[in-house]
Amino acid sequence: MLQDWHANAQKLKPETRLLIDGKWIEAGDGGSFASINPANGAHVADLSAATEADVAKATEIAKQRFDQGAWSNRPLRDRVATLYRFAKLVEENAATFALLDSIEMGKPISEMLNIDVPGSVLTLKFMAECVDKIGGTCPTTNSDALHYIMRQPLGVVGAITPWNYPMMMATWKIAPALAAGNSVVLKPSEDASLSSLLLGKLFLEAGGPEGVLNVIPGRGAVAGQALARSMQVDKIAFTGSTGVGRLMHEYAAQSNLKRVSAELGGKSPQIILEDVQDLDAVATKVARGLFGNQGEVCSAGTRILVARPIYDNFCQALAKAAPLYEPGDPLDPATIMGPLVNKPHQQKVLGFIDGAVAEGHTQVVGGAAHEAGDAGCYVSPTLFAGLDNTARIAREEIFGPVGCVIPHDGPDDAVRIANDSPYGLAAGIWTNNLTATHQIARDLECGMVWVNGYMNGDMTQPWGGWKESGEGRDKCLDALLENTQTKSVWVTLES
Ligand code: NAD
Repeated sequence: MLQDWHANAQKLKPETRLLIDGKWIEAGDGGSFASINPANGAHVADLSAATEADVAKATEIAKQRFDQGAWSNRPLRDRVATLYRFAKLVEENAATFALLDSIEMGKPISEMLNIDVPGSVLTLKFMAECVDKIGGTCPTTNSDALHYIMRQPLGVVGAITPWNYPMMMATWKIAPALAAGNSVVLKPSEDASLSSLLLGKLFLEAGGPEGVLNVIPGRGAVAGQALARSMQVDKIAFTGSTGVGRLMHEYAAQSNLKRVSAELGGKSPQIILEDVQDLDAVATKVARGLFGNQGEVCSAGTRILVARPIYDNFCQALAKAAPLYEPGDPLDPATIMGPLVNKPHQQKVLGFIDGAVAEGHTQVVGGAAHEAGDAGCYVSPTLFAGLDNTARIAREEIFGPVGCVIPHDGPDDAVRIANDSPYGLAAGIWTNNLTATHQIARDLECGMVWVNGYMNGDMTQPWGGWKESGEGRDKCLDALLENTQTKSVWVTLES
């Protein structure tokens, strides 16, 4: 099996050019950037790097196609049928999608097959299912009037996505935008663009009109910025760091005040109350919420807030669970944790670890770059204890497999510590105390709360944060509605 995945990776012939108006083209200036496999440093591909002029071309086409009604005016049942065909093609290409993301950013192949690919297919199907159910009239209080509200597409949606869930983040953006009838220009992360290009190809094969889904790999500061500043773009759907998220608002303000949705960073707490019984079992699940996807998850539960009476025992249980997440070859189906995305990011994460040691925090487990060879970007799961919420590693998003275990003095104190962060993306509560559960869930300042589990969910869950974790929601009906605008029509019935 392991050999099969490696052999199949060798056979991949991914599209690496820009997809604009249904045609594959090189960047206007012939420029490109390299994609490197973080598991072994191997060269994966050279991808065309969109210039500002390429972005202008893509947004112009997207706008023309929108104005011509190539997609937005397609009978709704046809649009829905196209999206279903698109979802089916994505499902049929599951193995290719899994390989592409895995070799570009190091995600374990098993995660791709169990989470990212099915999650992407589900997103496409869900948005297709919902789009004919969001219209509606609003009865008036006047007998001499008829009032109805139309939900109409925005026009051109620019999607800018990160590398940590390349295929799934792209799908979370394009599925609701396309279902609502918009044209899309997608700029994936320069660390993982190949699966987005495949999405563009399959949309065409499913019968999507040319120029409605354009995919333009490129550098953030060039292609991303040009897209977010474009006067042709009506909304930027962004997922990425809080720093770049701030820029999105600046670009919007400096151009056409386009709508911005921004799914940003996090420093999420997992609160463990004193009553938890089986510390080993809970610690294993808590570790999954912390180390899963190498800790490269916006909602990673990296601040483990533990009731003081069980603090020492829970630290030991977590230390025992951490090695389960020791990283390995992402193409081995048994691997549950892969390398970090690239060398600079690996160095950044190791720098956080060295800094925490220098600040005198107790390293319970981990810390070293993993042995899998110098070329790989591996970092072992790492835990610090004996610190409070003021420590740098408790405040800043590390985006790697590094957690800190902080004691609390009961539910109120846990909530105080949890909320003491500029971020507010997600939180976990581990307890059997019903009252405390709901009080804590009510008082937490964040967009998502998990109880006795972490990072579970489906399409019914709106995904997004409070505070500096951003605004707007992915998934759920919220995402679909955010890709539309309302028009209220009031008809006077007496002349
Ligand atoms: P990033 O902000 O560096 O890049 C995200 C995207 O923005 C990329 O496509 C990049 O090319 C582009 N970009 C970079 N600079 C730009 C600029 N000046 N103008 C326009 N575009 C620009 O983030 P990343 O490193 O790719 O991803 C990791 C971050 O994403 C973490 O902070 C993580 O928490 C966040 N994230 C959030 C969620 C969520 O749902 N809240 C989900 C996944 C990742």
